[in-house]
Amino acid sequence: MESEDGMALDWHVARALLEWQLEMGVDEALAEAPVDRFAVEAAAREAAAQREAAPARAAVPVRQAAVDPVAEAEALARAAVDLPALRAAMEGFDHCQLKRGARRLVFADGVATARVMVVGEAPGRDEDIEGRPFVGRAGQLLDRMLAAVQLSRAESVYITNVLPWRPPQNRDPRPEEIAMMLPFLRRHIALVDPALLVIVGNISCQALLGRRGITRLRGQWTEAEGRPALPMLHPAYLLRQPLAKRESWADLLSLKARLRDLPAPG
Ligand code: URA
Repeated sequence: MESEDGMALDWHVARALLEWQLEMGVDEALAEAPVDRFAVEAAAREAAAQREAAPARAAVPVRQAAVDPVAEAEALARAAVDLPALRAAMEGFDHCQLKRGARRLVFADGVATARVMVVGEAPGRDEDIEGRPFVGRAGQLLDRMLAAVQLSRAESVYITNVLPWRPPQNRDPRPEEIAMMLPFLRRHIALVDPALLVIVGNISCQALLGRRGITRLRGQWTEAEGRPALPMLHPAYLLRQPLAKRESWADLLSLKARLRDLPAPG
């Protein structure tokens, strides 16, 4: 490793620099080489100046068909007759900016005939790499929480997210991104047809209930997509606020009791 002036860096200095970057929140390298944003901007300014100086060409009117991403998503979702078709429709949907920055589509995990469907928010880094929802630290906690009430994605739970692509730097998804992916989520729920939904986190409550404020909503059974729904705290929140696990335990017991009261699947 070399410093900017070409001097070889001593091992301890290089390690201290890396640790400093981690502390500042850097969690991944986007490119091998650094990008000089000032040079990029200067080149863009120069190109714009050259374009202005060039003789004006006759303007050719370009008619662009107005695309309504929500209407298009609705039509695609409606046409999907099963889960593989829905997945293919989502893979082919190009209007969501998140798709460009993500490595892969994170569709779902678990048992497609499960009575419980968990709806999370959006993939993070680990999910983006693996292509499966809830596989990072928060996902491992979710698995432990489910196991505490004898549920698992291997046998009895199906898991998906509101957004199938990772937002850059894990930022909150924008309202228009949620709106254009919602038709796919609704179709996803209709195709799996679970007996009940567990809605984890604020973004998911916003998408499916039109409400935020998960600390107030959690534990209160409601209805979403025509079936009982239980809002719960997001496991990522529980990792930051371990004392809130008490509330989540109460919610898990409520989920278990509700499942016990359901008519046996037949
Ligand atoms: N958080 C979510 O909401 N979903 C995931 O898949 C991972 C983390």
